[in-house]
Parts: sequence; C-alpha cells; structure tokens
Amino acid sequence: MALVKIREILDGNCNDKSVSVRGWVYRKREGKELIFLVIRDSTGVIQCTVKKASEAAWAEAQKLTIESSLVLDGLVKPDKRAPGGFEIAAEAVSIIGLADVFPIAKDKSEEFIRDMRHLWLRSRKMNLVMKVRGNVMEYTREYFKKQGYTEVSPPMFISAAVEGGSTLFGLKYFDQDLYLTQSSQLYLEILIYSLEQVFCIAPSFRAEKSRTIRHLTEYWHIEGEWPFATMDDLMKFEEGLMEHVCKRVAENCQKEFAELGADINKLAAVKAPFPRITYAEAIDRLKVKNPALNWGDDLGYEDEKVLAEDFGKPFFVYDYPTAIKAFYCKTYSDRPEVALSVDMMVPRIGEISTGGQREEDKEMLIKRMQAQGLKPEDYEWYLDLRRYGTVPHVGFGMGLERLLTWMLDLENIMDAIPFPRTTRRFYP
Ligand code: ATP
Ligand code: MG
Repeated sequence: MALVKIREILDGNCNDKSVSVRGWVYRKREGKELIFLVIRDSTGVIQCTVKKASEAAWAEAQKLTIESSLVLDGLVKPDKRAPGGFEIAAEAVSIIGLADVFPIAKDKSEEFIRDMRHLWLRSRKMNLVMKVRGNVMEYTREYFKKQGYTEVSPPMFISAAVEGGSTLFGLKYFDQDLYLTQSSQLYLEILIYSLEQVFCIAPSFRAEKSRTIRHLTEYWHIEGEWPFATMDDLMKFEEGLMEHVCKRVAENCQKEFAELGADINKLAAVKAPFPRITYAEAIDRLKVKNPALNWGDDLGYEDEKVLAEDFGKPFFVYDYPTAIKAFYCKTYSDRPEVALSVDMMVPRIGEISTGGQREEDKEMLIKRMQAQGLKPEDYEWYLDLRRYGTVPHVGFGMGLERLLTWMLDLENIMDAIPFPRTTRRFYP
C-alpha cells in the first residue's frame, strides 16, 4: 500500500487507489455504524470513515482520541460532502500514540490557547501561517541573492545600543553587562567594507512595554546594507523586494490564503513604484484630523494607520526630522534638521520598515552621538569605519512579522511567529 501525503489525495491524484496515510486525529464523530475521522498531516486534512463491519479497524478507531497518532489504510473516493472533496474508506487503522484528553477545544479563550502554544501550533491556522512564513523568508532571500547580496550572520550579544536605550535588553555576560541586539545594522555596516552588498534575516530584541498589534519583544528582522547608493536606490530596492515577495506568495501560497480566508489579491496588486510622500506632507494630511500634530512630532501607530487608509497599499514616507531619528542617520547638509530617512507603511499596520542613508563623516557622526548623549568611546569600532575608507551607504530593516501580519490579515502580530515573546509571554 502506497504511503501518501494528504495533499496528494486532495489534489485528486489518488482516486480509487488504496493508500496509507500517517498523521494525527483532528476530529472524531462516532455513529452507530460509522466512525468519521478527520486525519491531519503536515499537508492537509482528510475525512475518513470506518465501518462497524471492518471489525479490527472499528475496534482501533473506537479507542482513538483527538491528537492520537496513527496509520490508516483505505480506498480513496471523491465525495462532495467531505471537506476538501475526498474521503478515505478505512480498511485498517493502527494507533501509534494514543493521546490523553486534548486540552484545546472550541470554547477555549485566546489566553488559554496562547498558554497552550506548543499544542496550538498543530492547528490548521498555525500550520498555514508557518508555511507562508517559511516561503516569505525564502522569497526574501531569493530577491537579495538575485540582486547580488551576500547573506551574513551578525551577533546577538552586543556591547552598545543601536536604537534608543529605552527598549534595550541588558543581560549579565559572565561578569560584564551586555545587551541583546535591537538591530544588526551596525554590524552590516562593518561587512559592507568587505562584501559591499549584504543582508541578514536575524532576531532583534526590543524591551517594548507597549502592547499593540505590531510589537513583540523578539522579532525577526530583514536587514540590508550597501555602499555607493542614494535614497532613491534604497526606495527602489525596498519596493522591488516587496513586489517580488508579494508576487511569489500570490503565485505559490494560494491554498494557504484560501484556507486562512486571507485576501491574496492585494498581494498580486503590489507593483512598484510605490507612492512617496515627505514627512512634511504626511503632517499636513494628518493635521486635518488631528490639529494638535506639528512638524517635529513622531508619528504614532494611530497617525500611520490614518495615513495608510488613504493609500490602501504600501507607500513611503521620507525626510523625517533629525531630532526623532537615531544618531547614525545622515542629514541634509543645507537642512540639518531633516534626516535622509524613509519608512515603508502598509494599511492597518503602519510602519513595516525603516531605512535611510547613514552618516559617513566621522566628525558629523561624533556630533550626532554627543547630541544624543551617547559616548563616542563606546562606538570606537563604528567610528573606525569612517576612519578607514569611508563611503556613502544606505540600508533598511523590515520586520518579518509585521510583513506577515499585513499579508495574511492577521489580527495580532503574535500569530505571525511560532513562539511569540511579549512583556508577559515567554512560555513555552
Ligand atoms: P515602532 O515605532 O513601530 O516601535 P521602530 O521605528 O522603533 O518601530 P525600527 O527601529 O525602525 O522600529 O525597526 C525597523 C523595523 O523593525 C520596523 O519598521 C518594524 O517593521 C520592525 N520592528 C521594530 N520594532 C518591532 C517590534 N517590537 N516588534 C516587531 N517588529 C518590530
Ligand atoms: Mg522605524
């Protein structure tokens, strides 16, 4: 008997064939003469029927509990009433691991389900989200590589802050104080002097106290950095990446989107060039609804959502005030109050990436550090990059989970990562 994946059956490749499937009991309903089992494997779910007349199979099926693992042999038949359109008439059932009473049932709260993450990851929803996530990582790499970028591996233990100190996680490293990285940017900047165009997909850590639908304390950061480039090159690269990833997902993840009930058409519609507005224009637009907002204010989640509603698709906001930007942001020589910085935004989520040109002049950089109360001596190696053959360069960082939350219409970013970390959540 041929061992098949459930997907092969659902694709119509096993009609009238005797097959063997291996998986777990997803649902069970017991009648007088018939037991209905829904079996799941990594590829999908299939309805199976066990008749009382097949005595050995019936006896095994009666013992089965939800999430028991098993091997089931039987004949595949198309059946319009069955979810997915196919059914297996079971001939033999063999239990591998009989499950205790499964704690997750329909009436459980979201909180409870999050505590049971290790078991909830077996759900169809999480199975599908994780598949799309894997594909998005693959298509991201694909784009960077096609453009000649080298994937690199930056450290997670670091000795000085990248972004502001307020979201920095400190830790004891033997008898020293270290931090968990908030971004790999500064390390990518080192590597451009060797490899030029580099990227990484790596964790970043932020001690975010705010509980929003777009913040985690540990997230995966897609970051790219390269020399001899302008703001225009940067925006073109970012929109090219988005277009590529969206197109590939639209081509290859149709089944996942359909089962999740997510709108895949918005991905197929993502086409470069994206609209671009300056921060000053954004403030003007927002002032209509929120007169208290002024040039110089940071845009919050609510502001970004309002802006994004107008566009209904990804767009850029650029030229932010220097005062709300990190020390490494380059500023206009004739307008030092404006930084060469750009955010990509999407509907419902707001910001999904920040990028910009980096200050390549040592003296300017030192001034910026001092203005922000940072000690240049903590960043000696970073300053060395400006001492030895400095070059103009750009880079950006995009949150993988924010991208997925938007793509898959997820209610909360916690569902975009298998093991979400938030202020209160670090189990399992
Ligand atoms: P926000 O203002 O939303 O807190 P940020 O501007 O502090 O974000 P950046 O330092 O610009 O974030 O980080 C680059 C990207 O990393 C962001 O555009 C976002 O996609 C992602 N990101 C940042 N913080 C988080 C977080 N706490 N959880 C998930 N993704 C994040
Ligand atoms: Mg940002």
